[in-house]
Amino acid sequence: MIYKISLTVILILEFFLSSFGQTKKDSSKRAIICLTYDDGLETQLSTVVPQLDSINLKGTFFLNSIQGSSQSDVIGQFPESVLGWTNAARNGHELANHTLFHACPEKLGWQKSISIDNYTIDKIIKEISTVNSMLSLLDPKRKTRSFAFPCNNVFIAGTDYSEIIKNKGLVTYGRTGGDSNSVITDFKYLNRMQVPSWHVWTGTTLQQLISFAEKVKKTGGMGVYQFHGVGGQIFQISKETHRAFVYYLKEHQDDYWVTTFSEAMNFISDQQKE
Ligand SMILES: [Zn+2]
Repeated sequence: MIYKISLTVILILEFFLSSFGQTKKDSSKRAIICLTYDDGLETQLSTVVPQLDSINLKGTFFLNSIQGSSQSDVIGQFPESVLGWTNAARNGHELANHTLFHACPEKLGWQKSISIDNYTIDKIIKEISTVNSMLSLLDPKRKTRSFAFPCNNVFIAGTDYSEIIKNKGLVTYGRTGGDSNSVITDFKYLNRMQVPSWHVWTGTTLQQLISFAEKVKKTGGMGVYQFHGVGGQIFQISKETHRAFVYYLKEHQDDYWVTTFSEAMNFISDQQKE
């Protein structure tokens, strides 16, 4: 009960502060936390976005498809997912690029014919620019895109393509994978195209999620969560666990700066220039 009341007080205070334009992001003193979600899953629209919106936290969503975008049960009605992602972007969430067909290495179980082992750099470039066009329709305000490598794999035929897509101007920052030890502590030399993240596995508990944040807090670094399904679908954690975790972050705003991947990386880029 006390927990709920204090969160309500925070939200009310925040509303008043932001109405008067007095919110201050003193990011240098706080650990940076990025909540990222992959694959444009339906449970992210039905569960994650409403949970984050209810406490005014922003997430980053790496989209490779817009489910149901080309079909609707009712003629003349806009597909729900298109509306959902458009509204999410309008509410300050980041929509980012995760390629179009999500090709992964054959050794991870992908059929040879559709695996990334059969790709060329040219093909991945076309996919990434196609998704950029799609994202610009859903989210016209954002001019640059972050990128997450499908299955956290940065190679095509033995070539690391991360710098190529950056140099082509397709994307600004890239996210790769990692585990619950992937805490970023050295901002100065962080490779902005291969930022590690913790790939959160099915059944991860609230305590494990909090432990990672605490590790990040201890180092004053940055921690990137890589979520998938919430309350269903792949690599899922439960709705309750996700809600309790984001509430925990909100309650500890003095310790954590929870922000989008691009905003966090803009901050780190500025530090690298110094
Ligand atoms: Zn993915």
